[in-house]
Amino acid sequence: MKPIKHFKSANSRISLKFKIWLYFIIFTVIVFALLWIFQIFFLERFYKGMKARTAVESMNTIAESFMNDNKEEFYRTVNDVAHDNELCVLVTDRYGRQIYKRHVIGDCIIHNLNNENADLIEKIKNSEDGIIKKMPKNRNTGNPMLVCGMRLGPAIEPYGFLLINSALAPVEATVAIIKRQLMIITVILVILAFLISLYLARRIAKPIDRITKSAEKLAKGDFTAKFDGRGYLEAKKLADTLTYAEKELSKVDMMQRDLIANVSHDLRTPLTMLKAYAEMIRDLSGDNPVKRNEHLEIIISETDRLALLVNDMLDLSKLESGRQKLEPSEFGISGKLSEIIDRFKGLSDKNGYHIQFTPDEERIVCCDVVKIEQVIYNLINNAINYTGKDKNVFVRQINTEDGVLVEVEDTGDGIEKDKIKLIFDKYYRSENHKREVVGTGLGLSIVKAVLKLHNYDYGVRSTIGKGSTFWFRISDVKKQ
Ligand code: ADP
Repeated sequence: MKPIKHFKSANSRISLKFKIWLYFIIFTVIVFALLWIFQIFFLERFYKGMKARTAVESMNTIAESFMNDNKEEFYRTVNDVAHDNELCVLVTDRYGRQIYKRHVIGDCIIHNLNNENADLIEKIKNSEDGIIKKMPKNRNTGNPMLVCGMRLGPAIEPYGFLLINSALAPVEATVAIIKRQLMIITVILVILAFLISLYLARRIAKPIDRITKSAEKLAKGDFTAKFDGRGYLEAKKLADTLTYAEKELSKVDMMQRDLIANVSHDLRTPLTMLKAYAEMIRDLSGDNPVKRNEHLEIIISETDRLALLVNDMLDLSKLESGRQKLEPSEFGISGKLSEIIDRFKGLSDKNGYHIQFTPDEERIVCCDVVKIEQVIYNLINNAINYTGKDKNVFVRQINTEDGVLVEVEDTGDGIEKDKIKLIFDKYYRSENHKREVVGTGLGLSIVKAVLKLHNYDYGVRSTIGKGSTFWFRISDVKKQ
């Protein structure tokens, strides 16, 4: 037995275990890379952007209230907004003189009228959308600040200006804390990911390893190998499929053994006879024309038996190789059945067989005539071979709505239920077939292969002691 070769493509050099582990680790690294990027590098930008957006929203709320011309309401809005968002708010008239101010945070930088405010107001006047956003540092405390401003009312001759100021938390400190935390989490999770992926990879690969070991045994011809697919559904499916394949292979193996026994027996017998009778003609009957002819007849019939066996083997191997294409043509099924039955006439006259044909109305069918002929021929031949002592065979054509049913019935011993599944298998022959029954164990396999190729239904009904009826249905019928 040759050692099993494992063919490796560039991709398959890496084991499943390693791949699963690798993908898991890559996934973890990507997750952490994203976390680090967003938490550390973009945190400040995110934070400032968010603060600026909130500031603009707050200014819009105050500006809206200003335009309503209700002082009480306006002051309340300013107070609420300043309080909710921790802001300092300064509202001025068009000349920059304070109208109202409210400061919630301690280190406000806009609550006094000063040059800087005048600068800011100047900038608002000059800005395109009437809004400014700045992030200066508080001169006294050094803390980062957000200062925003907008005009109130129209661009030309606005009614006034609004300045707000909020403290920006020092992001560096936060980032430093997050960094430390992330570092610890990263280390813990990378170790965890490493261990979990190792465990997972092992769990996933284990059933496959187990199944591979059994498959190697099977490949070496051990049909007792057990496929254990515990673990997960896919492994179970694989194990079940291989168990099924094993069963089928062992069946084929057994049948092939039987075949070698049968075929070598079937080949050896005619060959021995051929040799014996040829020697007899050479040594004894060569000058006696009557004896010689008798011996030659035997040689011819044994040659026929051999030819039949070889032809059946060739036909089946061609059919099963998938190289055979159907060549459909139109013909009348009644006519064809009568024609085939006529071919058995010589045999039926000589040996007393009686083939009774019950035709139906002629129907034109469209299928591969040569192959269907072979099916009918094989079925009638089997019926003759296996029919009972009365030597009766019945062939029936039954037209149905969607096809033509062809039945071949005999009055033989019938087939046991558990054998019915086997008779269409290659090389299956019942143990008790007689030598005078010329057969190869391939006839029904050819029938099955041809009918499958045509996609026709077929089957057999059988009663022990009463006989069997083989049938198939031609569904390609020309519509009248
Ligand atoms: P062969 O007839 O050459 O042995 P087949 O493939 O035609 O091979 O048939 C396989 C087996 O099926 C036969 O050996 C026989 O046991 C069984 N069989 C086939 N036809 C009949 C039949 N009409 N009645 C009983 N048994 C049959």
